[in-house]
Amino acid sequence: MRFRLNTKAIVIIAVLFISFGCTSEKKANFRVLTAGIRHESNSFMPYLTTAEDFTILRGAEITKGQAWATYLNEKGVEVIPTLHAICGPSGIVAKETYEGFRDEILEIFREAGPVDGIFLDMHGALQVEGYPDAQLDLIQRIRKIGGKDVLVAASFDLHGNISQEFMDGLNIISAYRTAPHLDGEETRLRTVKLLFEALHHHYLPQLAHINIPILIPGEKGITSVEPVKSLYDRLPEIAQMEGLMDASIFVGMPWTDVYRAGMSVQVVAQDAGHLHLAQVQAEALANDIWDQRRNLQFDVETASIDEAIGMAVESPDSTVFITDSGDNITAGAAGDGTLVLERLLAHHVSNAVVDGIFDSEAVKQCVNAGVGTEVKLSVGGKIDYIFSKPLSITGRVLHLFMGGPDHKSPGAVLQVEGVTLILHSIHEAFTDPVHFQLAGIDPLAFNIVVVKEGYLFQGLRDIAPRAIMALTPGFANQILENLEYNQVRRPIFPLDPDMTWAASSSVVSQGHKL
Ligand SMILES: [Zn+2]
Repeated sequence: MRFRLNTKAIVIIAVLFISFGCTSEKKANFRVLTAGIRHESNSFMPYLTTAEDFTILRGAEITKGQAWATYLNEKGVEVIPTLHAICGPSGIVAKETYEGFRDEILEIFREAGPVDGIFLDMHGALQVEGYPDAQLDLIQRIRKIGGKDVLVAASFDLHGNISQEFMDGLNIISAYRTAPHLDGEETRLRTVKLLFEALHHHYLPQLAHINIPILIPGEKGITSVEPVKSLYDRLPEIAQMEGLMDASIFVGMPWTDVYRAGMSVQVVAQDAGHLHLAQVQAEALANDIWDQRRNLQFDVETASIDEAIGMAVESPDSTVFITDSGDNITAGAAGDGTLVLERLLAHHVSNAVVDGIFDSEAVKQCVNAGVGTEVKLSVGGKIDYIFSKPLSITGRVLHLFMGGPDHKSPGAVLQVEGVTLILHSIHEAFTDPVHFQLAGIDPLAFNIVVVKEGYLFQGLRDIAPRAIMALTPGFANQILENLEYNQVRRPIFPLDPDMTWAASSSVVSQGHKL
């Protein structure tokens, strides 16, 4: 029997066709390009960070296993990956390295054709050789291709140093809300959700941004400690206000000597009509942070290294974590300072572990010698030859291990008198008990555990019976007044302790003007 279409059937089929057509067209409606350069640059450190130091992701590697990418995928958004370059904190980035990343991103963007949105995965404290503000350069070039109508959303580490001009190129900004950091993935997901929401509802988000003239080390900006906790607790409340999308507080990165270094706040309005509300909220938050500036303090005991060692040996049955804060690898310092090791040996301690010293040559010598062998080495003091010097030691190789993010970087554990010394072939710090386990070490079996950190990262914080921050010299000196700043804006607290300031004097972004 032949199937005959009557008028009604034709209408139903047409409706189905149109609605299916629309649905599929709607699902694939948005194109979002993604790029990222995530680096915290310590400008005091005499080391130029190059492409070899970065983990560089391209194509499908960028989106693989990423919650933000899964979300966009589920929403039917076409994600166009370019390049994501990620590196732990270290010295400023070489010009050619940055330009190589940037040009690759821009070339893919040009070939990709028009996009609706851009998701940038940044740290915020990027500093590049020869560039006053490389992040500004990046966003200006992106805008040149994408035009003023493309929505740009960027996620950041809260230790970023953010300039007003850079903000002018962005529509949406979202920063981590935890330090020590626990919410990197959550922040990236929140950022793309806001981007999708803006695209979906045809919002044109606008940003209120205020640089606050406060320079503090991250150790005074721990988000679980008051008064910082209460300030961060306000962010989700502000974000939920009618017409607002998100709010961020940047603690900033004080070891990058740049004009824009320091704290800042941002509030994202969904459109120009709500920018005034965003501005009011940003100013209130900025003023409250300013009022609390003298209460932003360390949450742990601090001492000189000799005092810290003395305090620890007084309680031999307990474990005391001592952070070598001036040589804090997680703030981009050298990680090869020998001062703490030298002082522990001078005090003839009997039960200490030191993580660690970054010295690939010394690791090679240990690997060549093998486990159980006695070695004579000159360790450390190669990158940090300013506050430190190489130290001659004799020790027995206890253990060899593979460290680093992909477990491919050799390391060695040596017994040097009463000190168990961990040597790294890459610039890394053990921030979690799992890392110590990899090197065959139970930190709680020692009286003294030295780590090259400032604040203890969460995993170590959770197990440390006691922590003392040793105020050691180095490229991440906690006493900012002791650093020689040439570029940071002045006046700034605490370098100019008596200065006055009010947020109302600051400029607020009117959206993407580039
Ligand atoms: Zn950070």
